[in-house]
Amino acid sequence: MSVNKATKSLFKAADTPAKMVALGEEGVAEHIRTIGLWRNKAKNVVALSRVILEQHNGKTPRTREDLEALPGVGHKTASVVLNEAYGEATIAVDTHVFRVSNRTGLAPESTPEKVEKRLLEVTPDTYKRGAHHWLILHGRYTCLARKPGCPECVIRDLCLYEAKTGE
Ligand code: SF4
Repeated sequence: MSVNKATKSLFKAADTPAKMVALGEEGVAEHIRTIGLWRNKAKNVVALSRVILEQHNGKTPRTREDLEALPGVGHKTASVVLNEAYGEATIAVDTHVFRVSNRTGLAPESTPEKVEKRLLEVTPDTYKRGAHHWLILHGRYTCLARKPGCPECVIRDLCLYEAKTGE
């Protein structure tokens, strides 16, 4: 993924909020030009690094409220940080998770917020932390948006999607 390539190079150049601020918007942009909305993202990364330094002693905050107050950080990103960095049982809903949840019947809802709420209700506690990864990977590599790979899908027998391909 281009995001992983970009962050690998970026974190080599700056692996702390202080170094990110020192690198500056132009410096950050040099590393992330291959990803979408790079100009805006470079701006936000420097701005949020500054807030982390000035208001959180250089440490990524660990409450949803503080995370969502950072520039460029919304509900989904905060969920990912709480899950990955702090081990909380959150389920971040991106476009893949939204699609897979609806097609399979796991959490058929009209908005990402409702899908998240439903997924948290139906997912056993032991699987909550990993759930968003598994759903993202399933959506990215098997249940593709335009051409779902139903014939080779391992949950084909459980999936409720009416337009399953390869019947
Ligand atoms: S059977 Fe098809 S629609 Fe259902 S989850 Fe698998 S790939 Fe997606």
